[in-house]
Amino acid sequence: MVICPLNSRSAKIDKVNNRPKLNFSKLYGGFNAPILKIDCGAKCAVYNPNGVPFCCDICHALPVAYLEEWKYLKKNTDLWHVWKVEDCKSNNATIDQSNLDLPENMLLLACKGAQYCEREFRAVSCRQFPFFPYVTTDFRFIGLAYEWEFEHQCWVISHLDQVSKTYRNEFITTYDEIFNLWPEEMESYAIKSEEMRSTFLQRKQRIPILHRNGKDYMLSPKEERIQVVSSSNFRKFAPYSQQ
Ligand code: SF4
Ligand code: SF4
Repeated sequence: MVICPLNSRSAKIDKVNNRPKLNFSKLYGGFNAPILKIDCGAKCAVYNPNGVPFCCDICHALPVAYLEEWKYLKKNTDLWHVWKVEDCKSNNATIDQSNLDLPENMLLLACKGAQYCEREFRAVSCRQFPFFPYVTTDFRFIGLAYEWEFEHQCWVISHLDQVSKTYRNEFITTYDEIFNLWPEEMESYAIKSEEMRSTFLQRKQRIPILHRNGKDYMLSPKEERIQVVSSSNFRKFAPYSQQ
């Protein structure tokens, strides 16, 4: 599974070369709040046979970076390298390599590992996990939806009521800034949101949304009708159903 909006319909490379510069140092500074008060990595790592948080395990989640972001990271840290298949040395891998549909303007990275993490140089894809910007059929970025493929791995997805207001605000502000400067990036999340609607329609389930207005909603995947709910009533997933 890949931590990103991946699909090849994202911005084309010729567009990328000519687009305005994003200040990643500033962007990272404004997207730095922890998701929760507690260390969720300690909650999920015990269920990962590789013993590390799922989102920091290259055998389970592949971080991505914009090409412009990679230039910034390369210049400032040796935490990252371009991902290679051999980076995962475990038999417990869940990455489907045949399904890596990488846009031209992004690349897959691998870091040195959770024990060497440098918080200030986490990629945007690390900071946003387990969320992505939900974009409606009529092309509005209304809030945070979660990476549904990680429902049984990520503890946070079963505890959406604990996501901090500061994190939510920083997430919204960061993506407002990215979409404002690079509007073409919103298209990839519109496609990802469409995939989520299609999956949840098949499942006959509504989609939890942490809305940009601060409230929590359930969204019907067919009509995109939203209903205010208490986030403490959001679904929980095994093995975190009782915790
Ligand atoms: S965000 Fe999810 S997968 Fe990552 S450390 Fe927290 S609980 Fe684990
Ligand atoms: S940089 Fe840090 S947060 Fe990102 S994948 Fe590596 S260990 Fe995890």
